[in-house]
Amino acid sequence: MSFFPEISRLIVSILVAWLITRLPLVVLPRISIRPLELIEHPHDPQINENLILQILRVRRAYWASIPFGLIPLVLGLIMILQSPSSVGFGLIIGSSWVILSRLVPFDLDHLIQFPYSMNLIHELNRIRIEKYPCCEYSNPVWSLDAVKCSECSHVLLNHPRPDLGRKRTDGFLFGALRIMILDGHPFAESSNILTIEEE
Ligand SMILES: [Zn+2]
Repeated sequence: MSFFPEISRLIVSILVAWLITRLPLVVLPRISIRPLELIEHPHDPQINENLILQILRVRRAYWASIPFGLIPLVLGLIMILQSPSSVGFGLIIGSSWVILSRLVPFDLDHLIQFPYSMNLIHELNRIRIEKYPCCEYSNPVWSLDAVKCSECSHVLLNHPRPDLGRKRTDGFLFGALRIMILDGHPFAESSNILTIEEE
């Protein structure tokens, strides 16, 4: 048993398991039979009913990683039980890595404990229902770094915008890679000063 082929098989199988468990977030929100009417990426979407429904869809896709991740996990376990194999071991590492990253909270803040948390969805819904009296016709939109009124730029919720499952302008491959690496987390920092462009 030579060392390098074993190591490369291990790395490839980790990557395959990682890919299978992260694909739902890229694919599921974008293949809906009845797509919701949202402004195209990368423009700032209005906080309306369609946006809330879309985030609920993306949230379901995010959590679908766990059942998807069980496939390589079980496959890896079966392979290891039959004979010690680097492929089986790699599948277990890759899938359990993603499943654990889903289950362990990202932050103590209740809004960003998990991407697409129910607390965040409730906050957005509250902003949708209770119009903030900053302007006569306040219009909350979700820009890259926060939810703001598009008329006066008053910050209504200091939370950067995650991927919303819209068709991306940066191309399927590049967009997919970006979503998989960020895994639902927003690209911009949560601050009033925008440091990194999503573009
Ligand atoms: Zn305003």
